[in-house]
Amino acid sequence: MTRVQLIDVGKQYPGRGKGAEPVVAVEDVSIDVASGEIHAVIGYSGAGKSTLLRLVNGLERATSGRILVGEHEISSLPERRVRDVRTNIGMIFQQFNLFHSKNVSKNVEYPLALAGMPAPERKARVAELLEFVGLSDKATAYTDQLSGGQKQRVGIARALATNPGLLLADEATSALDPETSQEVLALLRRVNLELGITILLITHEMDVVREIAHRVTVMDSGRAVEQGDVFDVFSSPKTETARKFAATA
Ligand code: ADP
Repeated sequence: MTRVQLIDVGKQYPGRGKGAEPVVAVEDVSIDVASGEIHAVIGYSGAGKSTLLRLVNGLERATSGRILVGEHEISSLPERRVRDVRTNIGMIFQQFNLFHSKNVSKNVEYPLALAGMPAPERKARVAELLEFVGLSDKATAYTDQLSGGQKQRVGIARALATNPGLLLADEATSALDPETSQEVLALLRRVNLELGITILLITHEMDVVREIAHRVTVMDSGRAVEQGDVFDVFSSPKTETARKFAATA
């Protein structure tokens, strides 16, 4: 289980062209994701959600503020230490990001091979993971033979391979139909409950938040404009953005 703390985090990108103003992607965002919590960050396109995720997994550096993943301050570690912290972070994506040239087992095995686990152990671990996501019978299938929901389940198995304490989900169900989304969300709930993994997800879909999140941060123009218990935030929204999302539920 892993706690994630963002403290007054800001991220600016250089503006395009000479003398252009910098782009403020994230500004003064503080989020405390308790260990074992499912925390959703919801916002419209351009709100700063993906930037936030890239800061948490150390793919990018914050311009200001601090980010702690467990006891590690990922925002200030040298790159080689960031890689170590990243082994405690699993990640799943809207477009699944699987290897098309590898079968299901090989996709799931990939992070284990990278981590240097011996082949017999990898085999056992892959079998265990496929069992957990309900894809034991697809071990030798190629990804283009799978439905979207099955692809995301492979993505989840791969993300869990190295036993991370934190799972980051980037619009994980946005490419799926509503019924399949429900199945994938149910699996994420099991990941959280049965394995105790903290989940930080970003989404523009109110259904996702309502379905699995414990707490939510509403983002607008780079800022966290509301935050709290999902029911509390959306039963009495204080900003126009939160009100709009609440209305879609
Ligand atoms: P969201 O994920 O909520 O759609 P993003 O984090 O992708 O939002 O983007 C937030 C803002 O930061 C947008 O205005 C976007 O154009 C800008 N932005 C994101 N990444 C970059 C980048 N690499 N360079 C310049 N601007 C960026």
